[in-house]
Amino acid sequence: MARASLPNKRGSCQSPPPMRVVNYYADAGLDRVGHRRKDPAWIADQLVNPATRFVACWRNQNLVVASEPRPLLLEFRQIEAFGGEPVLLGMRGEHAIFAVDLSSHEAPLKVLGLEDHAEFMDLRRIGPLLARDEGSILAYARGMLWWHQRHRFCGVCGAPAANSDSGHLRVCTNPDCRTQHFPRTDPAVIMLVHDGERCLLGRQAAWPQGMHSTLAGFVEPGESLEEAVAREVKEETAIEVEDIIYHSSQPWPFPSSIMLGFHARAATTEIRVDPTELESARWFDRGFLLAHEDDDEFRLPRRDSIARRLIEDWLQR
Ligand SMILES: [Zn+2]
Repeated sequence: MARASLPNKRGSCQSPPPMRVVNYYADAGLDRVGHRRKDPAWIADQLVNPATRFVACWRNQNLVVASEPRPLLLEFRQIEAFGGEPVLLGMRGEHAIFAVDLSSHEAPLKVLGLEDHAEFMDLRRIGPLLARDEGSILAYARGMLWWHQRHRFCGVCGAPAANSDSGHLRVCTNPDCRTQHFPRTDPAVIMLVHDGERCLLGRQAAWPQGMHSTLAGFVEPGESLEEAVAREVKEETAIEVEDIIYHSSQPWPFPSSIMLGFHARAATTEIRVDPTELESARWFDRGFLLAHEDDDEFRLPRRDSIARRLIEDWLQR
């Protein structure tokens, strides 16, 4: 990672541009064609185009070929009978990709005739096994459809909210209200805190056995990202931090977050764990982490998480 630098008077940068870090579930390889979402005729053409594909979700699970796994995308003729309102995800080359929610049906695989070789699976179980762009598209679809499920009614007046802009907007149907509701993403900070040769990892009781990870928490209203980093670390472990430097971000639509990753240097070293947040927190030597192989005593977070990326990038320094 590197710090960003400002252009000089000639427009060139005074130091090399920052390395671009692409985390799992980012960079789906789609053109989101935001300008097309308000064009009903174009959307209608795309829906029935034989080259268009549909990412099907059912109760927050994604449709995959179970034996591999890999995404199983559907065609319009397969989803037509289900009704509903597909959400335009974007264009992959010349072909449109939509998300479609089959949750109102008890057994969509039976209707589709796919019971023998496809199933709906939780993306968090299979994400690292998928090609990165495929995992990103499935995550995007899941996040959009979850938002629609949870925002059927206007939060201002309680009237039904109608789908608009090919699924990227819901508008209150009460003519006296007409409030617009946009898809929501909740920012959370996640931070690798270190003191040079040791890093601070915590553990929550609900995590898989032995798993330790970086600290994290949601950004609160009226708070900068750097303030959120410092506050969360202090609340959970009583450690004070400085030199808070942005690393990278990761969409985490499980159900609706974006993780904003940082490295930060510890200004104090004495840990006092908040037991309502963490089961434990400890300093781990760089050498221990480099030599360790995951087991039930200690394991690092899953490989598709930005937490793992923050730790591994620090270990490589
Ligand atoms: Zn309203």
